[in-house]
Amino acid sequence: MTDVRLPTRLSVGPATQHAEADVIIVGSGAAGMAAAIRLLDAGRDVIMVTKETLGDGSTAWAQGGLAAVTDPADSLIDHLADTLAAGAGLCEPDQVAELVAAAPAAIERLTELGADFDRAVGGTLALGLEGGHHHRRIVHAGGDASGAEVARSLAAALTGPASSPSGRRRARGRFTLLPGRTAVDVVGSPDGAVRGLRVLDGDGAVGELTADAVVLATGGVGQAWSTTTNPATATGDGLGIALRAGAVIRDPEFVQFHPTVLVVPPAHRLPGDRGVLISEAVRGEGARLVDGRGKLIMDGRHPMADLAPRDVVASAIHAELSESGDDHLYLDGTALGALTWQQHFPSILHLCRERGVDPITEPIPIRPAEHYFCGGVLATLDGITTVPGLYAVGEVASTGVQGANRLASNSLTEAFIAGDRLGRLLAVRDAESEARITLVSAALRHGAGLAEAGHPSSSDDRAPAVVGAGRRGRLVEAVTRGAGVLRDESGLTGLLTELAATPCSERAGAVADVETTNLQAVGALVGTAARLRTESRGCHRRSDHDRPVPAWQRHSCLTLQPDGRLRTAAETAVVAA
Ligand SMILES: Cc1cc2nc3c(=O)[nH]c(=O)nc-3n(C[C@H](O)[C@H](O)[C@H](O)COP(=O)(O)OP(=O)(O)OC[C@H]3O[C@@H](n4cnc5c(N)ncnc54)[C@H](O)[C@@H]3O)c2cc1C
Repeated sequence: MTDVRLPTRLSVGPATQHAEADVIIVGSGAAGMAAAIRLLDAGRDVIMVTKETLGDGSTAWAQGGLAAVTDPADSLIDHLADTLAAGAGLCEPDQVAELVAAAPAAIERLTELGADFDRAVGGTLALGLEGGHHHRRIVHAGGDASGAEVARSLAAALTGPASSPSGRRRARGRFTLLPGRTAVDVVGSPDGAVRGLRVLDGDGAVGELTADAVVLATGGVGQAWSTTTNPATATGDGLGIALRAGAVIRDPEFVQFHPTVLVVPPAHRLPGDRGVLISEAVRGEGARLVDGRGKLIMDGRHPMADLAPRDVVASAIHAELSESGDDHLYLDGTALGALTWQQHFPSILHLCRERGVDPITEPIPIRPAEHYFCGGVLATLDGITTVPGLYAVGEVASTGVQGANRLASNSLTEAFIAGDRLGRLLAVRDAESEARITLVSAALRHGAGLAEAGHPSSSDDRAPAVVGAGRRGRLVEAVTRGAGVLRDESGLTGLLTELAATPCSERAGAVADVETTNLQAVGALVGTAARLRTESRGCHRRSDHDRPVPAWQRHSCLTLQPDGRLRTAAETAVVAA
């Protein structure tokens, strides 16, 4: 238990707009679009709600690419082994095996849908190398514009005419895109199942959408930290919605900080700049981490040196900076030469130059920043959660694939595969399929120590409370201070104390209030689980417990109580060694 009290539902006023479909998808990144394509092709009606415009999440920003075994010299076993090694004992090996086995076909499916991946001479896929991988297996597009190509091809497949590979037109379901809408909370029925969703637009108008299935494909939580690679949409809304719907949130303490994020010189900061990612693939091509005097940072720290897993590199940089008091280190890619930069990393080159740094001729100033949320809504790889009618895919979900630390470029692969699988699952709604979903959902609840499905709000008589947008700055500062790369008891306690003291108001008048309330939930989830986990493992690092503890090789599972407190059940769901 913690003293932080979170709202069990958000009050936004009566709905003035209504719509209905078979499935509602929240989010238009790789996961949401992949699901929608399958559903529409199966003739099901889909409403897609997205905060800004189609394809506005992290997906389009991905640089490195998608991890998949496509080279005969590589092997699925090696991809599995690299993923498990990065996951530091908290991956679910069977889920990883499913992902790795499905990845090559996912690349084929994306190609079929129109994604134009980079090719080597002879036409085979050109493959990149990233941290933690022992083989070149990163499929990319446009050099470092992989996510943009994935988003472009999925959006085109989604909104273009439906046709099978043979060109035969198929009957399609109805697709309704609701851009500029923010999902607030699910609508539940008395039996505990989800039956719809409440959304808010930029003018404060409320809509109520009805469907048998609500899919959360809302991406990450980066906006809870002051520096992040994530877009503005990443405010942890899906996590907040799922929590308030009674879902289990697993392993939220595992937040990946990317080691190399450009520190933008103040004179060159563009509006809204929160950090520019310098992909690991740049180190894959030979760039090295150095300090201001040119000393190599990673030599002697890990056998894979600059290509060690992200948590190792991020914490090495953090340690160097804490010791020296410097603001940043450097990523020296000057040895790569102009041609490599222009051909392999045109987007990064452009983003850096726009901000006054030329990586061809000078080392790039970098430091770690929040990048990826390894935890999330407890779900299977085909999106089933502990709450009937609620599904979660992509970065918002915790499927056991990412463990305590995501292996580079496994997330885009996971988002596409999970969305695609969920789309196929929900496309067939016969009695057999319904029964399987019910059973799997019950099994997940059992594994997480939940007796039965139920909304915390169903027995709640407290006034719903929201954190006003005016508190956002302080909240983000508190999360950044207390739950950064390196944590400790006093910092985490300070964070939770500050969150507990955050004043609330009764009603969310605007999207910014909804987002700030969800950011508070992110802080409370991360802080609570991180304080509980008295060890260092994967990307959860504590200065006061600096080693992995075998007894902690288990998941953290959190749910929301009717009184708004988080209940932790870390003693359940032990991972087999
Ligand atoms: C800069 C950057 C580079 C990356 N590079 C790579 C890489 O090379 N390889 C890799 O594997 N991974 C990479 N990642 C991670 C990867 O891009 C993401 O994990 C993945 O794209 C997540 O896909 P998604 O569909 O789950 O979510 P997203 O693509 O983030 O989409 C989330 C969607 O949800 C919507 N949304 C959120 N909340 C709401 C709400 N309340 N109401 C309505 N809509 C909402 C958003 O508008 C958005 O449409 C990178 C991430 C970043 C930020």
